[in-house]
Amino acid sequence: MRADAVAVRSEEERQGVGPLLRPLAEGQRPLRQQVFERIRAAGTLARVQIAKDLGVSPASVTAVTSELMETGLIEEVAVSRDGDAAGRGRPPVALGVRPDARHVAGIKISDREHTAVVVDLAGRLVASASVTERLAGRSLPDLLEAADALLVRVCAAAGVARADLSAVGLGVPGFVDAAAGVVHWSPVLRERDVPLAAAVAERLGLPVHVDNDANLVALAELWFGAGRALSDFAVVTIEHGVGMGLVVNHRLYRGARGLGTELGHTKVHLDGALCRCGQRGCLEAYVADYALAREATTALDWSYADGRPMGVVLESLFDHAKAGNGAARSIFRRAGRYLAIGLANVVNLFDPDLIILSGERMRYDYLYAADTLAELSSLVLPASRPLPPIEVHAWGDLLWAHGAAALALSAVTEGMLGAGGGREGISA
Ligand SMILES: [Zn+2]
Repeated sequence: MRADAVAVRSEEERQGVGPLLRPLAEGQRPLRQQVFERIRAAGTLARVQIAKDLGVSPASVTAVTSELMETGLIEEVAVSRDGDAAGRGRPPVALGVRPDARHVAGIKISDREHTAVVVDLAGRLVASASVTERLAGRSLPDLLEAADALLVRVCAAAGVARADLSAVGLGVPGFVDAAAGVVHWSPVLRERDVPLAAAVAERLGLPVHVDNDANLVALAELWFGAGRALSDFAVVTIEHGVGMGLVVNHRLYRGARGLGTELGHTKVHLDGALCRCGQRGCLEAYVADYALAREATTALDWSYADGRPMGVVLESLFDHAKAGNGAARSIFRRAGRYLAIGLANVVNLFDPDLIILSGERMRYDYLYAADTLAELSSLVLPASRPLPPIEVHAWGDLLWAHGAAALALSAVTEGMLGAGGGREGISA
């Protein structure tokens, strides 16, 4: 055969093998976005370091950073060199995100307290606001009213006009389809399947992105907290329900239909206790607030507890456990054993670098005791390496709202610089 002959392939041979990635699919962000996100993550970063980190030529970095500077998204920043004697010529220059180029808000609506933050494009906190009140009617108009009032307050505190916000991230507890912006179920809404992102966007006159509490806590840890340097970690939240936010390869994992990582509804008992979702044997039917309260009313014969707010019943249960009440303690011990099953499943499935238990500390003082850890070790596949660290992080007041702001910030970044977002947003 001549060297320049065209090879013939059958139809089958022309199918190829290997993953069929979409052009510029997830993880293959355009260079301009990669450069921008690297600068934001580093705080300040020199061009030469960007080229090294991304494995591209200094010329490509210069071209991209010039474009980002022209559009006002980044700026040159003087960095002082340690031990540098004054007057030795031009100070070294790095690049930083121009903080005031954009602002976003993050809002958390829960059944007890609403919080909001405004952060700038560099991710720095500009202002925060919080309101302690119940959403009495649990209706959509109530929620819209609460979000609007909170936004007015936080914008005033930030000195940023609402119209100058690029996006709002909104967190609610419950089942949320983040991609569709739909809340299938939430304790703060009586209605089901509410297209919340669209409704709030219409009310606020701004682009809105919604997600559930566990995903936003995971995002907050990924952007601002213990998860910044970790590629794979899980956040487990226990409150009214049990939620999980899972970060895989530095990104939040949502599943194909946006319904993944519902740890609370993984089954830990065949034909077990009845769950709020209508099924039996779910993890949260053993460890969530309502499960503990249900046990308390039965085991402690607290008939008076019927009709009382859940928080009051739980406070009382904690108090009894602290005072040494055997029945109250055994309720927590049993719930802790179920929690151990749930966490062992997370370890066996995902082998994360770290598991963060997020919520009120007091709950974990009882649920996550020495017994739980021992139980957990016995349920995890034996390995030569120790268990991943499991840390309790108390809910910071603003943690969840920070996660909502990170959601908004990543959407704004994607819109400005991403592959799908086009470039409409880039001209400031
Ligand atoms: Zn369930």
